[in-house]
Amino acid sequence: MSEAWILGCRVHGLTLREAVERIAGFIEEGTPHQVVTLNAEMAYLAHRHPDLLRVINSASLVVPDGAGILWAARRLGFALPERLPGVDLALALMEKGSLRGWRFYFYGAAPGVTERAALKLKARLPRLEIAGISHGYLSPLEEGDLLHRIRESRPHVLLVGLGSPKQEFWIARHLPELGVPVAMGVGGSFDVWSGDVSRAPVFLQRWGLEWLYRLFQQPRRLKRYVALPLFLAAVERERRWKKGRYLP
Ligand code: UDP
Repeated sequence: MSEAWILGCRVHGLTLREAVERIAGFIEEGTPHQVVTLNAEMAYLAHRHPDLLRVINSASLVVPDGAGILWAARRLGFALPERLPGVDLALALMEKGSLRGWRFYFYGAAPGVTERAALKLKARLPRLEIAGISHGYLSPLEEGDLLHRIRESRPHVLLVGLGSPKQEFWIARHLPELGVPVAMGVGGSFDVWSGDVSRAPVFLQRWGLEWLYRLFQQPRRLKRYVALPLFLAAVERERRWKKGRYLP
């Protein structure tokens, strides 16, 4: 498996199929594994915050969620085969899991959204086994209860949609006590599966412009995108540093 290093974050190079196979291997092993889908904002944040960098580099699998990460990998001389958005990887896992009898726990998104997402996914994948559902706005007391519920329901895969980097920190903190083989942050995927938010048309996804579509759909995201030019500049700095160090 190829690897890329971007602003200190290790990213694995896999196709969607290979990523699903690798996660299937984690489930067979049975020990806890964290899966991170890395985008440019998260990589830039990790570049500034060692705590987040530690979480990302301790994960069992880190895949490139966004076009920015693929661009950065190319700029820095690495080759990653394709973009693996969390929403696509999680759906591919559910497709495979519904044939293999894997149980999924859904945690995150606003009250009602997660249930609607579960109903729509069940309509699409009738054999999908959902071990439990919890929305992402629980009180600290309810969160304690959630940990108990997840442990009791013994899912194979826990999908956590609390947004980044909250979900990555949450998983890293709680995974050891949950007894779940695979936990993966899925951002706003429950909003997509419920039908509340739509994906960008495929041609925009191919051109690496899904972020622009999301910005039009949810203008409140604008403040997150200020990290993008900073990410691009940091990658260019890293490229110059690498060139000075490794090239004649
Ligand atoms: N969310 C949540 N609890 C929180 C904060 C956010 O469940 O305390 C959910 C929110 O409702 C949405 C998702 O987390 O479903 C964040 O979606 P976004 O598209 O912003 O994810 P990101 O782009 O950060 O991965």
